[in-house]
Amino acid sequence: MEKHEENKAVAREGIASEAYVNISKAAWLTLCEDAYQRRHMEACGALLGRRDDQGNWHITRAHPLRNIASSPVYFEFDPQELLELELRYPGEMVGVYHSHPGGYARASSTDRENMQRVNVEQCIPWVWLIAVGPFECPVTSTVMLKAYHHYEDRGLVLVRVHLAEEAELQP
Ligand SMILES: [Zn+2]
Repeated sequence: MEKHEENKAVAREGIASEAYVNISKAAWLTLCEDAYQRRHMEACGALLGRRDDQGNWHITRAHPLRNIASSPVYFEFDPQELLELELRYPGEMVGVYHSHPGGYARASSTDRENMQRVNVEQCIPWVWLIAVGPFECPVTSTVMLKAYHHYEDRGLVLVRVHLAEEAELQP
């Protein structure tokens, strides 16, 4: 059962969403810098912006958050810190990011469980970004970003990532 589910999920990596994520250069730089600074553990944080009527995500800012697990293979937000951020920026948190410093270029089984739980069971329409390591130098152009969303009808799909000019992010 477990194995079968795994294969199904891996196959789905080939399915791309029609929706896309626009990420501002500022957010991209913050995210890459964070992944580099915390390269011995999984860096993680919130993505702030908006989701449009077509279901695309427009990320203007990335906001690093503590990884209370302090692990190179796992991340866990501090629930209190996450709550404070949501209160500070009501309605602006449209996704989260974390890094894979070891270079694993897919959503892990834990990631996929989290994506399904939050997107489908909790009905929170976050996009999930994973920055794929290793982060040996602070050059952001070498950082690969993978984006995911778990749709109720289609399951887990990859979302295209577009590095946006600031003008494209205006509502
Ligand atoms: Zn992960």
